Amino acid sequence: MYDALTASYRLSCPVHGETRVRLSRFRRLEQLPGAQHPSVFRVEFDCGCGGEHAGLVSHDDLDWAPLGLQDDTPFVNLMTSRVEAMSTEFGDVAAARIKAGEWPWSFFCWPEERPRPVYPSAFRLLAPSERGERVGVAVRCPVCGKVSLNLVSREHVDVPFVNDREVGVVEHVFEHDAQATLEEFRSELWSSLFDARRLGLE
Ligand SMILES: [Zn+2]
Ligand SMILES: [Zn+2]
Repeated sequence: MYDALTASYRLSCPVHGETRVRLSRFRRLEQLPGAQHPSVFRVEFDCGCGGEHAGLVSHDDLDWAPLGLQDDTPFVNLMTSRVEAMSTEFGDVAAARIKAGEWPWSFFCWPEERPRPVYPSAFRLLAPSERGERVGVAVRCPVCGKVSLNLVSREHVDVPFVNDREVGVVEHVFEHDAQATLEEFRSELWSSLFDARRLGLE
C-alpha cells in the first residue's frame, strides 16, 4: 500500500489501474465509522489521470508506514549490497529521531497559538495552491480538537521529518470540518489571509 522509496501510496485508478499518490495529493480524509482494527480511512485523491478518485487506507498505512514502522518490503542496502527489510532500516531511524524530539509532521494550532506534532490521520482536507507548490491543509488538533488551516510546502506534507520553518496560518477556526465540501474548503482557504508562524521547537 505504501511505498517508502517513492513516499507514495498505491491506490487504484479506473484509467491506469494502479497509481502512486503522495500524501499532498490527498484531498479529503475521513475515518470510516465502526470498530475496525486498525481503523480505515476513506480518502479522495487527485490522480495523475486528471480525475479525482476515492480509496481506502488503513490507519497503520496512513500514520506508520511512512515512518517505516510497518513495511517489511525487502530492499537492497547499497552500503552492504544485502537484501534487508525496509522496516529495520527506516523504522530504527524514525524511532531514534522521534525520541530525540523531532516531529515527523507538525502543524500550527491557531486556537492554542502553538505548534503541535501530528500524524497524517489528523489531516482532514487538502488543496493545492494555484501554482501547485504549496498546499493548504485543514488539520484537526489531536489535543484541543479544533481545526486549523495551515499553508505549507508539499515536502512538509509528503516527507516525514521535513517541517517548514514557517507556515501560513489562517486566523480563524475552520468550523465545517468533515461536512465541508472540497469546493467550500478551497474557496475559504484561498480567500483567507495567512499569517506566518514559526514551527520550530526553539
Ligand atoms: Zn486516475
Ligand atoms: Zn490545538
